[in-house]
Order: sequence, then C-alpha cells, then structure tokens
Amino acid sequence: AKAAGGNRYELADADCDARAIARHSLTNGLPAALENGEFFIEYQPLVRLTDGSVRGAEALVRWLHPVHGVLGPDQFIPLAESTGLIVPLGRWVLEEAARQARAWRSEGKCRAPMRVNVNLSPSQLRYPSLVAETVAVLENAGLPPSALCLEVTENALIGADEEELRPLRQLADMGVDIALDDFGTGYSNLSYLRRLPVSTLKLDRSFTRGMQCSPADPVDVKIVEGIVSLAHTLDLSVTVEGVETGTQAEHLRGLGCDTAQGWYYARPGPPERLCASASADASP
Ligand code: C2E
Ligand code: CA
Ligand code: CA
Ligand code: CA
Repeated sequence: AKAAGGNRYELADADCDARAIARHSLTNGLPAALENGEFFIEYQPLVRLTDGSVRGAEALVRWLHPVHGVLGPDQFIPLAESTGLIVPLGRWVLEEAARQARAWRSEGKCRAPMRVNVNLSPSQLRYPSLVAETVAVLENAGLPPSALCLEVTENALIGADEEELRPLRQLADMGVDIALDDFGTGYSNLSYLRRLPVSTLKLDRSFTRGMQCSPADPVDVKIVEGIVSLAHTLDLSVTVEGVETGTQAEHLRGLGCDTAQGWYYARPGPPERLCASASADASP
C-alpha cells in the first residue's frame, strides 16, 4: 500500500489513463462504426420568430455505440476531427441530411419547403473536393442550393484568408446559405464579417441565457440589440440558439432576431417529428 498522498496521485493518474484508453478505443472504432451504420442523425427545428413557422432543421449526428449506447457529437467529433475520419463522416451526414430534406419536401406534410442545416468542421473546409461533393449531393437529392445551410464556427474562420474562404464563397454564390455558428464566442473583429461569405449569424447560447428573466439582463439586451442591428445592416439574418423558455423567445423576438432553435420548440429528434411537432408548437 502507498501513502495517502501517493495514492491520490495514482488515482488521478489511473483516471487519466482510463480516459486515454477510452478515447483510444473510441477513436479506433470510428471507421467500423461508419461502415456498420452506427451513426444516426437527429433533427432540431428552426423556427421563424415572427410567425412560429418551421423553416427547416439542423442535422445533429449521434453514434449508437454497441457498448456505450448513444454518444453525443461532443464525445466523438473531436476524435473524428483529429484522425481525419471527419471527412467521410461529414460526407455521410451531408448525404443523409440532403436525402431527408428531399423526403420532407416530397411528403408535403410541412407547410413550407424544408431546409436543412449541416455542420462543417474545419478539416472539411480544407478538403479540396468540398464544393464538388456538395454540388453532387444536392443534385443527387434533387435539391436547390437554397435548401441547404452549412454551419461553420466563427473560430474555424478567424484568420482565414481569401484563398481559404474560396470554397465557401463558391457555395454561397451558388445559393447555399452559410451560417456563422457559435457567433460571439470567438474574438473576431466585427468588421471582419464583411469579408465572410455568410448569410446568417447563429448567436451562441450564452447570449440567450441573459433573456431568462423579465426584465432581461440589461447588458445582454444591449449586446443582442447591437449584434442584430449590425447583422441587419450587413443583410445577415440572426438565428438564436438554446431557447429554452417562452420568456426567452419573447425577448429575442422583441429584439428583432429572425429565427430560433431550442428545447422550448423541440429537442433534437427523429425526422418524422419535424412537421408534426412543428405545427403543434406553432399554435400555443
Ligand atoms: P452546435 O452546432 O452549436 O449545436 C447546438 C447544440 O445545442 C446541440 O448539441 C443541440 O442539441 C444543443 N441544444 C439545442 N437546443 C438547446 C437548448 O435549448 N438548450 C441547450 N442547453 N442545448 C440545446 P449536440 O447535438 O450535442 O451537438 C454538439 C455540437 O456537436 C454541435 O454544436 C456541433 O458543433 C457538433 N456537431 C453535431 N453534429 C455535427 C456534424 O454532423 N458534424 C460536425 N462537424 N459537428 C457536429
Ligand atoms: Ca451548429
Ligand atoms: Ca452553435
Ligand atoms: Ca456549439
């Protein structure tokens, strides 16, 4: 037996080892998981704040792991990103989401033509065939470019030069919507926004939190007001994430935000729920 101090140290050490082993085995399992169809997508509706109508949904990937059960993207996207598997995984998500958007449109249960939002990771942005593959996916699914919104985090674009932005600009010129995800968490200079081929700002959840109470946090109100006014001046639409209560939704609507997403409307779920849950939520 060891002294208490040494023991504690060993425990912490063992903990780190266990985590490293778990990480390692998850990482090794990724390629087979993709082959075996263990990934699936949940969809979370995007709601227009002015009339409560559903504009589309964000595709959020999950892994149904044979041992660990359902794993969230935060548990495996970073691993896929560091090994390069994110490229084929991201391609699968895009194909699957496009197929789903086609199905929503064909079924005709939704009032408006549904759009689908897909997250792009930094490696996908640098992947040389991104534009060609995206065009092919849209064509195969029979979707216009406007049916797709690609979400890119602010951090992935900070410091990107014109060359690095070219693929996104090409997609934007074709009519694909580009959203700047987690906006407000990075340190980008706001004037930098003018250089980016984005059409939507997705305000990070941290801003939504200050809207929980009535009256809302006055500083957060000022910040959101400022961002909305800047965004609209630049012809960008504003989507707010993490809306969990009606109070938040009311405040954010009052501040001129365009679109909202969050548990108040619906949690991420299976694609069949999209228009069903949407019409229920839209008529309170
Ligand atoms: P994100 O793009 O910022 O997605 C929003 C996250 O907030 C999702 O977490 C969603 O489930 C969660 N969320 C939605 N509404 C609420 C709410 O009202 N309250 C709270 N507390 N949370 C809410 P999720 O599904 O765990 O995804 C985490 C992140 O993983 C995403 O953050 C995105 O960056 C990444 N991700 C998900 N799918 C993909 C993918 O297909 N490719 C890539 N590259 N990344 C993905
Ligand atoms: Ca996103
Ligand atoms: Ca986000
Ligand atoms: Ca996020």
